[in-house]
Amino acid sequence: MKLYPSNVRSRLTFWYVLFLLLILSVNLVSTVFLLSWHLQNQLFHDEIQDLETVEGLLYFDSSGALHLNEEYHSHPESKQVLDRYMEVLSPAGDVLYRNERLGGLRLGTTPGPSAGTEGYDRATTTLQDGTPVLFVSHLHLLDSQPLLIRVGYSLLPLRARVEETAAMLLAAFPLGIGLAGFAGYKLARRALDPLGRMAAQAELITANQLSKRLPVANASDELGQMAQVLNNLLERLENSFGQLRQFTADVSHELRTPLAAIRSVGEVGLQTTRSSEEYRETIGSMLEEVSRLTGMVETLLTISRADAGQIELHTSPFAFSDLVEEAAELIQVLADEKEQNLNVSIEEKGKIVADRVLMRLAVVNILHNAVRYSPECTPISASISAVNAENGQRWIQFDVTDNGPGIPAEARDKIFDRFYRLDSSRSQEKGGAGLGLAVAKWAVEMNGGHIGVEPTDHGSSRFFIQMPMLRAS
Ligand code: ADP
Repeated sequence: MKLYPSNVRSRLTFWYVLFLLLILSVNLVSTVFLLSWHLQNQLFHDEIQDLETVEGLLYFDSSGALHLNEEYHSHPESKQVLDRYMEVLSPAGDVLYRNERLGGLRLGTTPGPSAGTEGYDRATTTLQDGTPVLFVSHLHLLDSQPLLIRVGYSLLPLRARVEETAAMLLAAFPLGIGLAGFAGYKLARRALDPLGRMAAQAELITANQLSKRLPVANASDELGQMAQVLNNLLERLENSFGQLRQFTADVSHELRTPLAAIRSVGEVGLQTTRSSEEYRETIGSMLEEVSRLTGMVETLLTISRADAGQIELHTSPFAFSDLVEEAAELIQVLADEKEQNLNVSIEEKGKIVADRVLMRLAVVNILHNAVRYSPECTPISASISAVNAENGQRWIQFDVTDNGPGIPAEARDKIFDRFYRLDSSRSQEKGGAGLGLAVAKWAVEMNGGHIGVEPTDHGSSRFFIQMPMLRAS
């Protein structure tokens, strides 16, 4: 049979009762010990006083026999003295006087040569009739004759009182422990009840029902705090699941459009016999869609690897201006196609420490967007300058000001979300899947920088990237 309780409630009660039992036992033993010590001390002091009284009542008669002053006995207080055990011995141990209460019994053993010489000796003995006695011995000179006076009290009343107290305390044990155990069990049950409710609710939470939350009985206690922590975890899980669902839906949607385009171009191409020039054109437009798809799949791969934490940063110090010039050169080709004047001004040639490949991705995406969303024959200006923060940190800022339609205030944060497009038809026809800025934001923040967008005075946009500048050593 398993005695140790398996549930927490009973286990708490078990340990509670066990500790209570231990504490009560220690309390009982110490109470008995202290009470007995205190009563014996009191007895000892009473005996000293009695002994001093007796000293004044002893006298030798004319025949040299020792007596106790009988007259004094009639005095009410002196009755007490008669109730004591009393014996007077010569230093050699001969009994010179023994009171009636002692009735011929000996009070203690034969005294040693130094007995009672130094104050009041304290000792316990058991009389021949079995009575335990605490007695005090003192050497007294009467008419120049040394007398060893012994006065003692029975320890029986004292022991009875101690036993009575112990019995009273012991009698309270079962009741006290029973009540405490019951109350402890009830308390533990009450305290742990929210846990049961949380477990029942947790059973109902599945991947499809992540919006459910655990009940929080009392937000300030430990269980309430735990429920809140778990609820926060559920919220994060719900958000992640939601994002994952959204991401999967968006990806499928984005892939479907170019795939459908490839298919319909192919089908149309096969419907009738065409000239090789027409076939070349059909294959060309199919390849265009394939290259869009490839670009998107590559970006998705980067995002999913970044999400899985599989992308390792390879940081090195480099001049941010060099990187911007290099990216601008690449984008210049696209700007030229739209007859846009891409002007780059470099005011700061300081270095940053970052992953060059990721930073290039971010800069190219921003420049590419400026070209894509600005009308033909409009200027686009990019610049690199230094900015001082309040805390003394110096930043290098990359700005790109375009002449596009601008971004409404409510969408300024959202455009950095995955698959977010302001005007999907406008953006799609320009070739975007709504991933470029999400990747740029991730790349910049991974390298300790900030990215954002602000409106210009003409209603177009100014995108910026800020990176901490490497201090010149
Ligand atoms: P996309 O590949 O569709 O351009 P992005 O993530 O790069 O995706 O941009 C998200 C959305 O932000 C775009 O669909 C577009 O509507 C808007 N956007 C980005 N850059 C600009 C810009 N320079 N001017 C106006 N709108 C922009």
